[in-house]
Amino acid sequence: MNILKYENAITLKHVWEAKKRISSIVSKTPLMQSSALQEKLSTSTYLKLENYHEIGAFKIRGAANKLLSLSKEEKSRGVTTFSTGNHGLAVAYVAKTLNMRAVICVSKRVPKAKIDRLHRLGAEVVIIGNSQDDAAKHSYFLEQSEGLTVVKPFDDPHVITGQGTIGLEILEDLPEIDTAIIPVSGGGLFAGIAYVLKQNNPQMNIIAVSMERSPVMYESLRANRPVQLDEQDTLADSLLGGIGLDNEYTFPMVKKYADNFVLVSEEEIASGMKFLAEEHRMIVEGAAATGLAAILSEKVPIRNKTVATIVTGNNVDIETIKRIL
Ligand SMILES: *Cc1c(COP(=O)(O)O)cnc(C)c1O
Repeated sequence: MNILKYENAITLKHVWEAKKRISSIVSKTPLMQSSALQEKLSTSTYLKLENYHEIGAFKIRGAANKLLSLSKEEKSRGVTTFSTGNHGLAVAYVAKTLNMRAVICVSKRVPKAKIDRLHRLGAEVVIIGNSQDDAAKHSYFLEQSEGLTVVKPFDDPHVITGQGTIGLEILEDLPEIDTAIIPVSGGGLFAGIAYVLKQNNPQMNIIAVSMERSPVMYESLRANRPVQLDEQDTLADSLLGGIGLDNEYTFPMVKKYADNFVLVSEEEIASGMKFLAEEHRMIVEGAAATGLAAILSEKVPIRNKTVATIVTGNNVDIETIKRIL
């Protein structure tokens, strides 16, 4: 693995450029101090509210940075991806805003509600094969046959620096931050934010968090190479999925910048979601509550610290929320 690869492609300059580039599409999100956590744990904890984007998740940042960085010809041909989650929504939304063609490839197993939502965002949806892998293959076929650009969900410098703009916004509002807790799936969010915060202050303590059920990045770090795991059901469904066996950027970056990596149980995730609903009147998805779950379970040392965690998204169905409350 060529460690230098990301060192050239991901610099603070790139993140500042991303911030300017996406500013017409992406609004700055609030950083809210949680007085409830202050009372409970006597620590100053801040929540970066990435659930307040129009599509309900931070993925709009990386998607906007990627699409806006394409050449004129690439823009006129359009883009494709194979995610039905927040990344697919983000690509569809940004493409629509920029008047670009977007083809989202999904397998036959994807529920109709998700496909309808992509259609409403103006995307073309191709339903193909029985697995996420089949859908991915078709995206790469469209790249060859129609010249569409495949927009990867995390292992792409433009996506990483786009997510990194969250780090710049946190520093604007909270320069005294000394601890950050960041949810990890493919690691684009973590890599972008951790890179910015560590460049700003190498003493910064950065904690990665995933769910106990199928934490692929966590197991890959333990094995010191990308591994695959069978997916298990979890409240943090947006954190499911592999990191890519040919991972180039996010695996070495998480390895370099994570001071600590904690896993949270389903009950702990549910308590995090419940806490946000009860104390802050916010509905969020399981993945978005994992940072809070790590704080509430005191799995991370945060006493007398200035902490921020990322509330990453709100793509959750009402039945799940009802059950948890
Ligand atoms: C994608 C996503 C994550 C994880 O981001 P990665 O860059 O894949 O690590 C966390 N929360 C939500 C809501 C997401 O959509």
